[in-house]
Amino acid sequence: MAGTDDALSPLLRAVDGARDEASNLLADLVRFPTVNFGDGHAGHGGVPNGNETPCAEFLRDWLRHEGLAADVHESAPTRGSVIARLPGNGRAPTAPPSNPSLLLMSHLDVVPVEDPEAWPHPPFAGTIADDTVFGRGSRDAKALAAASAMAAAIIRRAGVALGGDLVILAAADEESGGRFGAGWVTAQPDLAVQVRATAALNEGGGASVRLPGNTVAYTWATGEKGRYEARIIISGSSGHASAPWRAQNALERAAEVIARLRDAVPAIDTSHPTFRAIADAYGLPAVTAANLEATITRLGDAGRTAAGLMRGASRCTVVPTMIHAGIKSNSIPSGCTITCDVRTLPGYDTAAVTRHLEEMLADLPWVRIEVDETAISNDSPWDHPLRDAAAVAIRRSSGRDDATLMPALCAGFTDSRFARAIGVPTYDCAPGDWRDTSPDTGVHGTNERIPIDSLVAMTRFYVATAVTYLGVVGGSSKSS
Ligand SMILES: [Zn+2]
Repeated sequence: MAGTDDALSPLLRAVDGARDEASNLLADLVRFPTVNFGDGHAGHGGVPNGNETPCAEFLRDWLRHEGLAADVHESAPTRGSVIARLPGNGRAPTAPPSNPSLLLMSHLDVVPVEDPEAWPHPPFAGTIADDTVFGRGSRDAKALAAASAMAAAIIRRAGVALGGDLVILAAADEESGGRFGAGWVTAQPDLAVQVRATAALNEGGGASVRLPGNTVAYTWATGEKGRYEARIIISGSSGHASAPWRAQNALERAAEVIARLRDAVPAIDTSHPTFRAIADAYGLPAVTAANLEATITRLGDAGRTAAGLMRGASRCTVVPTMIHAGIKSNSIPSGCTITCDVRTLPGYDTAAVTRHLEEMLADLPWVRIEVDETAISNDSPWDHPLRDAAAVAIRRSSGRDDATLMPALCAGFTDSRFARAIGVPTYDCAPGDWRDTSPDTGVHGTNERIPIDSLVAMTRFYVATAVTYLGVVGGSSKSS
């Protein structure tokens, strides 16, 4: 690990010097309309669904031009993912990791644009203006793809030999579940071995949280909630709407179900490390199920982010999002289906979700429940050498000595679960600039954008984490 500190300062300066290069790379990636409409969708305007391959090939060529080993792997025609590697120690790329190795994860697909007219810059133009890169995917998650590629290139250009491999996975298909991206990659033995690092960083964390005393923390998500789709199928009996007493209106029965979902009191679990960290940061007593709401009230407006973290990490949620009933305005519907979005804490599976809903609706004999798993809740250990390294790296990369990592449980789900499933402890943390705190980033909405300061901050963090976690074994003589 000798020379880690000495190696880092010039690398961070090199990242700052590559500001325009990084933003141009991101803008170039944004210009590929890698829109993922979801499974089974043919695509749009003659462009196949996702169509990540042209973008993946562009990134591969950029990485190869920097002297990095990079390849595109297609799970299906047009569904390409990039795997790249900056080898440390000269070790064979396919050998199982014996020394630390770090995987930087991102994805190249993006969600659709609802109304392009509402965007100040065309969503796929890759416009750079006002020190900002605009466009769909500029944050989610092409910023991570650009930052990880830039980080590897900067380390390679400097001729710094890392003590272990730095691996990049820029995957297809994250936005519709990853079956054609990270899910596929990790299921192919020859590819899984390439991405099976000793630890990984991914999207889903890194938001900056302002703490008392004007200090700053970045969310470090150790896991993600599970996601299920539950359908509550209600049966009644049909009839003419002019004689409602002869029918059992399934819509009216649905009203009872929806009221129960709304009024259900969730079981509160405060075991995640986020609760202790927040209590410590704010000088509050330990958070328990009994005092959670009072704690949130005490935090007030200034603690809104911390409150959100605690709410999310403390409970499973069941939220009705779609309802389907009826075929004609003068016919009483005999059936009604309520679809719910269910987010679970670690430890819950399909059977537990089904049981939970059955108990809630136990006395309603006209109800049937179907539950489909989208993503099972998953997590990695809080104590891990990557966290120690990242805690150092965030101070160095942000330039703030008071910067810390705030444990979090990501409420959404990402490709991290695929990496965790093949034994890679994975942490969601892609921090931007600490001043970049607006909740309106346009992610999955209108006018997605990222300040170039945030792109640079993320690249600095990746470089600092790689150097700190993997260590430096060589000098800084130019290698090419
Ligand atoms: Zn994403």
